[in-house]
Formats: sequence, structure tokens, C-alpha cells
Amino acid sequence: MIKRLTIYGVGLIGGSLARALKAAGAVGEIVGYGRSLAPLQKALELGVIDRYETDIARALEGCEVVLLGVPVGAMEQVLRELQPHLAVDTIITDVGSTKGSVVEAAVKVFGELPPRFIPGHPIAGTEQSGVEASFAELYQRRRVILTPNEQSDPQALEQVRWMWQQAGAEVIDMPVAHHDEVLAATSHLPHMLAFTLVDTLARLEDHDDIFRFAAGGFRDFTRIASSNPQMWHDICLNNREALLKMIQRFSDELATLSAAIERGDGEALLKTFTRAKAARDSYCENNG
Ligand code: NAP
Repeated sequence: MIKRLTIYGVGLIGGSLARALKAAGAVGEIVGYGRSLAPLQKALELGVIDRYETDIARALEGCEVVLLGVPVGAMEQVLRELQPHLAVDTIITDVGSTKGSVVEAAVKVFGELPPRFIPGHPIAGTEQSGVEASFAELYQRRRVILTPNEQSDPQALEQVRWMWQQAGAEVIDMPVAHHDEVLAATSHLPHMLAFTLVDTLARLEDHDDIFRFAAGGFRDFTRIASSNPQMWHDICLNNREALLKMIQRFSDELATLSAAIERGDGEALLKTFTRAKAARDSYCENNG
């Protein structure tokens, strides 16, 4: 059991973990901390946290694990704020969607990735944000990626792994660079496509009619374009290299498709669509 968990940034992701750990009886006390009071008061009112502190030293007092639930662009500044008040045995972990940038931020602040800092990323979420949107089941049967290195403290790693397992997740370890490449392909690129598609259509002259006649497929494809713009601003700028590679690859494939349409090459179109259908059908089959 974790006796005291401090969450810096009690939003959708941190709040959902808090709810899940409480439901599992895996934590003694959850202390909330953040940059503004109203969301912390809300978190307390909803029973997501047991108390909050407005002073960082008090928030970290006696905590076994501190979880950073803030956007990746805020990690460095948050780590700087924590650093003078951390006990030597406190475990640090985070939920940021990019991992190279979080490790870089830690190296800037501590001179290295501290052995008891285990970077993490739950592969679960919604297009909502804030503690009001949090729910205890978010991590059930979902995956969480941890990116420890050779210097990581085995006990800290096992504690963080155990914490996510208590929330219902399957925990996988992965090298940082591989995480950022995989997520650029599976999450960051799709968000770029959804944002760009909706923005393109919204700026067409007859956009009223376009949205009036948009059906279920459009809704499915664009759900993630309702995600938090600030969060995605941070993700793009913090996984630039891997994301740009994927955007380039996708642009090349789109240009190939466009050329096939232009020359009326039905065979090429059928080949692409059949391949894609088989890949998606098999993904759905394997992932319930
Ligand atoms: P969220 O609901 O908007 O919560 C973000 C939290 O961070 C809030 O408590 C917010 O405080 C705080 N915060 C925002 N900017 C800050 C800053 N500059 N300095 C200090 N605190 C700040 O967002 P979320 O969806 O939980 O995302 C949190 C983290 O999880 C991000 O790193 C994101 O990349 C990652 N993640 C998100 C998803 C997803 O689907 N949403 C999935 C996996 C991982 P205020 O309430 O005061 O604004």
C-alpha cells in the first residue's frame, strides 16, 4: 500500500488514478497540489483527494510517491519547484504523453534522471479534461508504459508498476526513444489529422452545410479534435522529431493516394483500402 501519494496537477489523468487507487484500497492518503485553488477544492469536494495543500513543502511532507499530472511543457518548471523539498526516498513519477522531453527536463533540474524518478505514460484518456471528467475505471485493462533506465531504483520501479496495476492497468517497460516513436505514430499523428481535418472543413466557405450533413463516421474520426489545445501544443513541441517523421511519412502516402485518384487507378485504391481494412479489423479483434 502507498501510505501517502501527492498528486501535482489533479486533472483528468491524475484524478482518475486517484479515484482508481482509492477504489482499490491501494493508498492511505492522497494529497492534491496545483497552481490554482478552485480545481483542488473541486477535487476535494468530489472525494478524489483527501486534502490539498497550497504550500509545496507541506504537499510533499511524508509522501512516498509524487505523481506529476501536468502538461509536458510544464514539467521542468514543476520539477524545479519540487526539487528543494523532496525527501531522498520519495519516488517521483509522471503521466506525460512524451517521455524524451520529461527525461530531459529532469536532467536539466537534477543533473541526471534521479534513480527514484520513474517516467510513465498511461495509454488511456479521453478528449475531456479537468478533475470533473476523471473516473476510476479509466485504466481498467489499458496499458501503461514506464521508461526506466539502467540507473533506475528497482524498488521505485516496482512500486510505480504496482500502483498502476492496482488501477487495473497492464504495465510495460520501454526505452524512451521507442516510446516517443510509437506514440508519434499511434496517438500524436492521429490527433494532428483530426485537428487539421476539422480546422480545414471549418474554414471552408460552406462549412455550415458540411457540419450539418456530417454523419457518424465524421464524429468517430474527429472525436479527438475536441482534446485540450494547450496539452496538444505541448505534446507537438516536445516530440517534434518523431512527430515530423510520421507527418512526412503520412504526407507521402497521401500524395500517393491522391495520384492514384487523379489517374483513375482503381486497383491501387482497392489495394490500399483492403490492406487498411485488414489491418484495422485485426487490431480490433486483438484489442476487444
Ligand atoms: P488536465 O485534465 O487538463 O489536467 C492538467 C493538470 O495540470 C491540471 O491540474 C492543471 O491545473 C495542471 N496544469 C496545467 N498547466 C500547468 C502549468 N503550466 N503548471 C502547473 N500545473 C499545470 O489534463 P490531463 O488530460 O489530465 O493531462 C495531464 C497529463 O497527462 C499531460 O501531461 C498529458 O500529456 C498526459 N496524458 C493525457 C492523456 C489524455 O488523454 N488526456 C492521456 C495520457 C497522458 P489547473 O487545473 O490549474 O489548470
